[in-house]
Amino acid sequence: LLLVNKNNKIPENFDVELETVEKNHKVDKRIASSLKQMLSDARNQGLSPVICSSYRTNSKQTQLFNNKVKQYTDFGYSNSEAEELASYWVTIPGTSEHETGLAVDIVSKNYQKLDEQQEETAEQKWLMENSYKYGFILRYPTDKKDITMINYEPWHYRYVGIENATYIKEHDLCLEEYIEYLNNL
Ligand code: ZN
Repeated sequence: LLLVNKNNKIPENFDVELETVEKNHKVDKRIASSLKQMLSDARNQGLSPVICSSYRTNSKQTQLFNNKVKQYTDFGYSNSEAEELASYWVTIPGTSEHETGLAVDIVSKNYQKLDEQQEETAEQKWLMENSYKYGFILRYPTDKKDITMINYEPWHYRYVGIENATYIKEHDLCLEEYIEYLNNL
């Protein structure tokens, strides 16, 4: 139940054993079979989910973040403004779940754009409804963005285990709220 967000960086000594799933995508080997099962069950329903992002190294995340910052500085924003704005769209290096191997971005094969309409695809609807059965949660529900500090990412699924995922789904929580709930038990 590793919490990684703007206020909780990945620990320095963090280490992950990776396993390849689907072409060249790698995830933490402990979640690989659950992920493969979820994708194959979705496909058996006639759906076409594809992984578009999985494990990222810190340097890859840094590159993505810097590209986004540059878009804003090119637009005339100061460096600090640009970093602030970029952080709503691309997670600050060291604080991305993709660096843990516990998260994947999944989109519809028929609609691979990362925008609002992604949420309307049959694949996202199925995943939002069923991912908890495989231990995955939709990590950044749009209505929780004040807490998660992530604007919009309804294609990002995070593994937390079936028991945790089921509670989170049933009580309509985000991971931050769930961890706070656990801490107050
Ligand atoms: Zn993601």
